[in-house]
Formats: sequence, C-alpha cells, structure tokens
Amino acid sequence: MSPRPERSGLVVAVDGPSGSGKSSTARGVADRLGLNYLDTGAMYRAMTWALLQRGTDLHDPEAIARAAESIAIRSGTDPRAPTIEVDGQDVSSPIRGADVTANVSLVAAVPQVREMLVRLQRTTIGASSGGIVVEGRDIGSAVAPDAPVKVYLVADPAARAARRAAELGILDPGTTAEDLARRDQIDSTRTASPLAKAPDAVLIDGTHLTLDQVVEAVVELVDDIVREGAS
Ligand code: C5P
Repeated sequence: MSPRPERSGLVVAVDGPSGSGKSSTARGVADRLGLNYLDTGAMYRAMTWALLQRGTDLHDPEAIARAAESIAIRSGTDPRAPTIEVDGQDVSSPIRGADVTANVSLVAAVPQVREMLVRLQRTTIGASSGGIVVEGRDIGSAVAPDAPVKVYLVADPAARAARRAAELGILDPGTTAEDLARRDQIDSTRTASPLAKAPDAVLIDGTHLTLDQVVEAVVELVDDIVREGAS
C-alpha cells in the first residue's frame, strides 16, 4: 500500500460483490472516523434509473453511451444522510427498485458510462480533503489505485442472499441468491474494470462477523496504516 497516508486526505476503498455488507460497513467506518462517504453503486443505479425513464434500449451499448452524456448525477457524501440526484431530482428510493437492480449491471458494463462516472467519483474524492470512504467494485483496482487503505469484503453466498433479502423485505432468499449470482457474473466478467480484488487490498470475510465487528476491523486497519504513515 502507498506509504505516508494522513487522516485528512485519507481514501478508504471498500470493494466486494453485492450483498457482502459493503454499504453498511463503509457508512459505519465513515461515521466512526468522521470521513465523507461515497456510494458508487448508487451512481450506476441512478444512471440506470434515468435511462429506464427515457426508454433507452439497455441492450444497446451505443444508445446507452449516447443517452448517458446528457444525464447529470450528483452524490451527497454525508455518511448519515447520503443523497443521490439525477438532474436535480432525489432518486434515493427509486434506484433501489427491482427494475433498476435487474438492469444496472448491463449499464455498468458500458465503457463510456464507466468513464463518465469514474471521472465524477475522482472529482468527489479530490474534493474530500477531510478524507472519504468509497465503496464499489473497482475502487481499489481502478478508481483510486493509490488509496492507502483498501478492503475487499466478501461473505458466503447464502449469508449474502439472506442479508439482501432481509434488506428488501423479501421472504424467499432463493430468488435473491439467483439475482446476486447473475449480477456477480456480469460484474466480474465484463471487459471494463471488472469486479476484482486489488492485489494490495486486505480481504475480510464477514460471513461469521457482525456488522460492528467488520466496522471495527476496518477502523483498526485505518488506524494502523495512519500510524505507520505518521511514524
Ligand atoms: O453496490 P450496488 O449493488 O448498489 O451496485 C449496483 C451495481 O452497480 C453493481 O451490480 C455493478 O454492476 C455496478 N457497480 C459497478 N462499479 C462500482 C459500483 C457498482 O460496476 N464501482
């Protein structure tokens, strides 16, 4: 990992597959350490929501790339109240809908969409002089490869499905498991910045840990790295 990080300009990258507990962990760590928080998955979801609203054919990458150019996405970075807007409209609720979830990986595989959103993500990271926790799939590997703290969070598929089903109020984790497996497959085999653990990321398996324990593990990692950098 890069030497001499300082807490003020700190970037903590939290990557991993869907349902591994990234969001709760990243928000919890940001809150504990007084850092900003950026949910990059919400940005891909917001783009997907906007394209669905416009009736764009999501099986046509060129049509997606063209339409995406005129869509403005904005993220608020308070970990206690993160926000996401499309052209000034708050879309925090609709981006969690089943239609967005079913289509987001198609949109996220389009290189022009990734370029556009990665540019925005880097701008937000650059503007967070007080430090930021960024969660996604390619933060440590592509968006912020110099981040001094990189975590790759995993959990076994049954635990992930149960967690995601509970979040969504779904009684049958079986359908959630299929949805997660399908998204993982698209996310990890796409050509542009696939879901991947950066070689220098620390792997945390949250299967048998509580959320507090995972947050604590990441906070300890941050403290160690900041201390190393200061010594
Ligand atoms: O994290 P979340 O499940 O909300 O992400 C939704 C989708 O956005 C993922 O399945 C993936 O296709 C895409 N994504 C991505 N790169 C990121 C974050 C999310 O491709 N950094």
